This record gives sequence, structure tokens and C-alpha cells, in this order.
Amino acid sequence: MAAKIMDGKKLSEQIISNLKGKAESLKREGIIPRLDIILVGKDPGSEIYVRNKMRTSGQIGMKGELHKFPEKTGKEKIIAQIKKLNADKSVHGILVQLPLPKHLDQQEIVDEIEPAKDVDGLTTYSMGKLAMGSVNFESCTPKGIIRLLENENVQIGGKNAVVIGRSNIVGKPIALMLLKRNATVTVCHSKTRNLKKHTENADILVAAVGKAKFVTEDMVKKGAVVIDAGINRTGDMIVGDVDFERVKNKASCITPVPGGVGPMTIAMLLENTIASAERLLQK
Ligand code: NDP
Repeated sequence: MAAKIMDGKKLSEQIISNLKGKAESLKREGIIPRLDIILVGKDPGSEIYVRNKMRTSGQIGMKGELHKFPEKTGKEKIIAQIKKLNADKSVHGILVQLPLPKHLDQQEIVDEIEPAKDVDGLTTYSMGKLAMGSVNFESCTPKGIIRLLENENVQIGGKNAVVIGRSNIVGKPIALMLLKRNATVTVCHSKTRNLKKHTENADILVAAVGKAKFVTEDMVKKGAVVIDAGINRTGDMIVGDVDFERVKNKASCITPVPGGVGPMTIAMLLENTIASAERLLQK
């Protein structure tokens, strides 16, 4: 039997529509949620992601400014901009679009964001909180994955979860979030020996590798829940890290690419920004 498709586009639209109501309530209290984005250089993928984030936040009545810097900008200028935004009371969320050009130390720059405005959840503070089993803001892609699992009522506790990838953006935080929800978590990476031995044991398999159709049918346990975080451009197509067409015949639930994890990431970013504005109101 073919797997149930986990529709991230539909779920994200529902979440975004609820957020619109929250943004309107905040407006009645005199607060317009605001997300500012810093973009350095001209990475075409990043420009598209940033445009989508700004457009969707505008659609729900949020404000936001894009701060663009040329490729060769030194860290001082970017850090000065972040400090300005940290001090600006009208700004509730700050996001530094990654990847940054190679000459910049990504974590050093991201760590300049005030934790209260770290709506992308990637500062050492937010990641440290997550590692300690607590929350500042959860990073958006893994948070979106958890929301997709919850939406399908996938039981996480006691299950074997295998994550392929250990990046700070996806692999590590999703492993921590699954662990917090009592899964038995295995994290695989490029030095893992006999990857298949691990993946075929997964009740929940998360692919965050960055290689088109990397996860093949033979690597997946029958009835597994398969989450594909990958976004790979092949010609004018976007494909995931999972060989969707074949794996869907073996999995019980699977996310498509596009239309799975991707749209959830933006919804979670806006949710975090609205939450940041609400925290301000509560103070
Ligand atoms: P990274 O390149 O930072 O990490 C890739 C991970 O995959 C690394 O941990 C690497 O291991 C591991 N890996 C590479 N080759 C193998 C292999 N042969 N076997 C096992 N593991 C391997 O990527 P990201 O985590 O940033 O992104 C992963 C994917 O998710 C990409 O396609 C990206 O575009 C997408 N993405 C999607 C987002 C969304 O909004 N949906 C957001 C962010 C990313 P090692 O650590 O040893 O090098």
C-alpha cells in the first residue's frame, strides 16, 4: 500500500492563517510583529528563500526589513547592524540568512543576535537550551518536522529514530527534539559505517543529507515514517534526499519535496516571531 503523504503545504497554510489572527490581535494592542533579515552576498537560493520569508510575513500583516550587504562585507559592519536591531524595540525577530560567504564565521555572527530575538533558533544560547531539554526558540526546520509528525499523530516515544546528517541547522537539533520526546535516536553522518544497517532499523527516518535521492527503498524499513528535509536542485527540478517514488511504496507516511518540510520552515519562523512579540506584550 502506498504511504500517506504528509502535506506540509496544507499544514503550513493552516498555521499561517492562524498566525494572521494572532498578528491582528497584537496589532489591536499596538504591536506590529516585525522580522528583519540580514542577507550577505548573492547566493541565488538564499535570495529566493529570503523573498518567500518576507512575502509570507507581509501577507499576515507583519513588518520587516531586508538588510542587504555585498559579498565582501567584513564582519564588523554586519555585527553593527545586528546590534542596532537588538536595540530596536520595534524588532521582534532577527534572522541571518545562511550560508554566509566563506570569509565570515557564521556562528560568531549569529551569536550576536539577542536571544530574545533569535527566532531562527540558531544561536549557541538557543541550541544550548535545546541540548539541556529546554526551549528559547526552536530552530525552524526541525520544529516544522516535529509539527508534521504531531499532525499525523505519529508516536515518537519509544520508537527508533534515525537521523542522517548532523548539521547545526537540521541534523543535530532534530535529533535533540526527538530525544526529548523519548525516541531512541541514532545520528548518522558521512563517517558512519554501514549506514543501511542503521536506517533499516528506523521507525522514523529523517534525511538531512543534501544529496538527491540518497535514501533508497532498500534502506527503509517497511512501514517507517520517512521525513525528507533535502532541497536539491537538479536542472530546473527540486528533489529531496529520498527516492520518493520508490520509498513511498514501503513507508507508512512520507513527506514530499517540494511541499513537505520546506513550507513548514517558513511557518515556524513566523510562529516564532509572533511568539517573540507576544512575550514582549506579556512583559
Ligand atoms: P549539511 O551539508 O550542513 O549537512 C549534511 C549532512 O549530511 C552532514 O552531517 C554530512 O556528514 C551528512 N552526509 C553527507 N554525505 C553523507 C553520506 N554519504 N552518508 C551519511 N551522511 C552524509 O546540510 P544541511 O543539514 O544544512 O542540509 C541538509 C539538506 O536539507 C539540504 O538538502 C538542504 O538544502 C536542506 N535544508 C532544508 C531546509 C528546509 O527549509 N527544508 C533548511 C535547511 C536545509 P558530515 O557531518 O560527516 O559531513
